[in-house]
Amino acid sequence: MYDAIIVGGGPAGLTAAIYLLRACKKVLVIEKEAFGGQILKSSNVMNYPGFSSIKGLELGNLFYEQAKGMGMESLYGEVTSITKEKDFFLVNVSSQEYKSKTLIYAAGLHPRKLSFASFDRFIGSGVSFCATCDGAFFKDKTVCVVGGGNTAVDDALYLSNICEKVYLIHRREEFRAEPIHIQKLKEKKNVIVLQNTVVTDILGEQKIEKVVLQKEDEKEEIFVDGVFVAIGSIPNTSILKDFVPLNSNGYILTNLFLQTSVPGFFAVGDVREKKVRQLTTAVSDGTIAAIEVQNYLDET
Ligand SMILES: Cc1cc2nc3c(=O)[nH]c(=O)nc-3n(C[C@H](O)[C@H](O)[C@H](O)COP(=O)(O)OP(=O)(O)OC[C@H]3O[C@@H](n4cnc5c(N)ncnc54)[C@H](O)[C@@H]3O)c2cc1C
Repeated sequence: MYDAIIVGGGPAGLTAAIYLLRACKKVLVIEKEAFGGQILKSSNVMNYPGFSSIKGLELGNLFYEQAKGMGMESLYGEVTSITKEKDFFLVNVSSQEYKSKTLIYAAGLHPRKLSFASFDRFIGSGVSFCATCDGAFFKDKTVCVVGGGNTAVDDALYLSNICEKVYLIHRREEFRAEPIHIQKLKEKKNVIVLQNTVVTDILGEQKIEKVVLQKEDEKEEIFVDGVFVAIGSIPNTSILKDFVPLNSNGYILTNLFLQTSVPGFFAVGDVREKKVRQLTTAVSDGTIAAIEVQNYLDET
């Protein structure tokens, strides 16, 4: 029986683990992909206090090594269900069950995909969700970025320094990105902005050759080597439906102490309803939940 099982080994989950281990609690952190979480994909982090500039991969590994060095038990695997018995949680990973008195859910987000049949076939073969991770593969080539928020505009700016030509394709007229970013983009000679335009298909055999665009009733094909998708994220909460209350976008609802309405079940980091999703807010959540878990364990 663990004092706490933490689902997700990103910054929020690992911070919670560090605090609980310092309080001598028995903790298991379960991670399905890579300890460190989303930040591993960042080429350069410049807003995490203590580091004026650090690679995301290095920072994520430092979080992990700190928790591991303090005696964290960790498990690679995907949590596929969580249930509550009378006073403990049962967490299922590859048909194995793990028991814990409390649960900290720190499973983060995954990127939203484009919804046409050929899309999945090109993921990793020309379709990317991370410009800073994969941009270098498209040096001196032509790519498109799909989206209209800050991430899409930032990605287009970043890629304009690497690629020969960058299309920014947005389905609406107005961008959600901040005007200063859009202004910078307009100054770039190798960026073409296509508004009110939707990507309806990707064409190619082994690799991407073209994308099909639709603007009102007009269809057009443009030659690209890569497609960067930045159209938002989906919280990793599908296993929680009917277990804890979620908002209409699937984010977990918590109170100020990061408790959900299920006693002993806490939610931290990007996966919960909040306005700012950053490293500093994720580690803050991990801290608060770990302290509240200790209070909960003392009281029950
Ligand atoms: C490219 C990129 C660049 C970024 N740059 C910055 C930056 O410069 N500064 C900044 O402050 N923030 C940045 N961020 C945002 C920051 O990375 C996130 O806010 C932060 O990682 C959130 O931490 P988290 O622990 O809540 O979630 P995550 O980092 O998403 O970690 C959640 C973990 O849970 C795991 N998981 C999910 N479901 C399961 C399951 N069922 N079973 C087991 N494990 C599961 C996932 O694999 C993941 O490792 C960036 C994000 C990206 C994608």
